[in-house]
Amino acid sequence: MQPHDFLIVGQGLAGSVLALQLLSHGRRVALFNDPATPAASAAAAGLFNPVTGRRMSKTWQADRLFPFLHEYYTQLERMLGERFFHPKTIVRPFVSVEEQNTWIAETARPDIARFATVNQNDIRLSEYVNTPFGSMLIRQSGYLDTAVFLAAARRHFLQLGILHETRFEHAQVQADANGVQYGEFAARRLVFCDGPHAVGNPFFDWLPFRPVKGEVLRLAIDDFPQDYIINQHLFVIPLTDGTFRAGATYDWRNLNWQASGAGQAELLEKATRLLRRPVRVLEHWAGIRPATADRRPLVGMHPAHPNIGFFGGMGSKGVSLVPYMAHHFTDFLLNGTEIMPETNINRYISLYKKAASGGW
Ligand SMILES: Cc1cc2nc3c(=O)[nH]c(=O)nc-3n(C[C@H](O)[C@H](O)[C@H](O)COP(=O)(O)OP(=O)(O)OC[C@H]3O[C@@H](n4cnc5c(N)ncnc54)[C@H](O)[C@@H]3O)c2cc1C
Repeated sequence: MQPHDFLIVGQGLAGSVLALQLLSHGRRVALFNDPATPAASAAAAGLFNPVTGRRMSKTWQADRLFPFLHEYYTQLERMLGERFFHPKTIVRPFVSVEEQNTWIAETARPDIARFATVNQNDIRLSEYVNTPFGSMLIRQSGYLDTAVFLAAARRHFLQLGILHETRFEHAQVQADANGVQYGEFAARRLVFCDGPHAVGNPFFDWLPFRPVKGEVLRLAIDDFPQDYIINQHLFVIPLTDGTFRAGATYDWRNLNWQASGAGQAELLEKATRLLRRPVRVLEHWAGIRPATADRRPLVGMHPAHPNIGFFGGMGSKGVSLVPYMAHHFTDFLLNGTEIMPETNINRYISLYKKAASGGW
């Protein structure tokens, strides 16, 4: 078999986008993905939102990530011939007068006004949502239909004959200064994009992962607006079939992929508080987010195996992070540019040394 440039493990959002970018530069890529191993990307609600968190702040690197993702996903839709990118304004009802005052001041700043403005009755909400303190409109936001994207990318990779739908066995990797060998596959480099499963990856299990379970519902809501996303401790995303996606829970303890009664009860309670319409549950699912200790992605090469890389740790923001971070990592892989220090896995070199010396 002819040697490859890159072997990539994982066809979630991270592996798919990294592979697409490397292919667009003419590189030879082979992808391995095990359909029996669940993907965070398949469970994701798909929201991208530049102003997040309980206390609401502009997300890390928003000025770079958001313009980039809009252009990138739009291009991908054209290339893959599917519709999966859905830009939509988010309406964020304020939780208090204090929050309202804070954001009247914040949105006067030009760097914030790019992403958020106070809702001066542009969108009338009060019939549908409990919003006694007014609301804010968040722009450059929306959702990615990750299931449609993953299926379209999978078809593309299968057509190219580069997707191998089998489990990747770490024990069969041989790596040296010239490259890697995996069974009959030889390549210059191997990159793991194994999402939350990286906790069990013997090459990268020393990284400080903080996986977190999430649960999501698909709801029927009669007579409810379809034009924007509502988000206040619960997001409600209008889907193209007239139903709504609502979520999500955060659970750091029960790290399994099963939808739970407690998760559903929590989401329905939030829906009752926020919405002025009854809801009916149509579907309910769960997944595990590949989150990290410092809430930054994990990108870079293994300290002892310079041809084995990692691209992950996208946490709860894979949709917004992956396009730009894949572009950035591709630049490193092909041109040797510097990896952003905040994301480079070498920031955790002390953890690697401790693990390698048996110091746990
Ligand atoms: C409930 C929930 C809701 C979420 N909502 C959002 C949201 O609204 N917005 C957002 O931006 N993000 C959201 N996320 C987070 C988002 O899903 C992740 O950030 C992103 O999808 C991670 O992508 P990934 O490719 O790194 O991992 P994954 O999607 O998990 O992909 C890893 C892939 O590797 C494969 N794999 C692993 N090990 C092996 C092996 N040994 N051999 C072969 N294949 C292997 C798996 O099969 C899988 O396909 C949500 C996550 C969850 C769980």
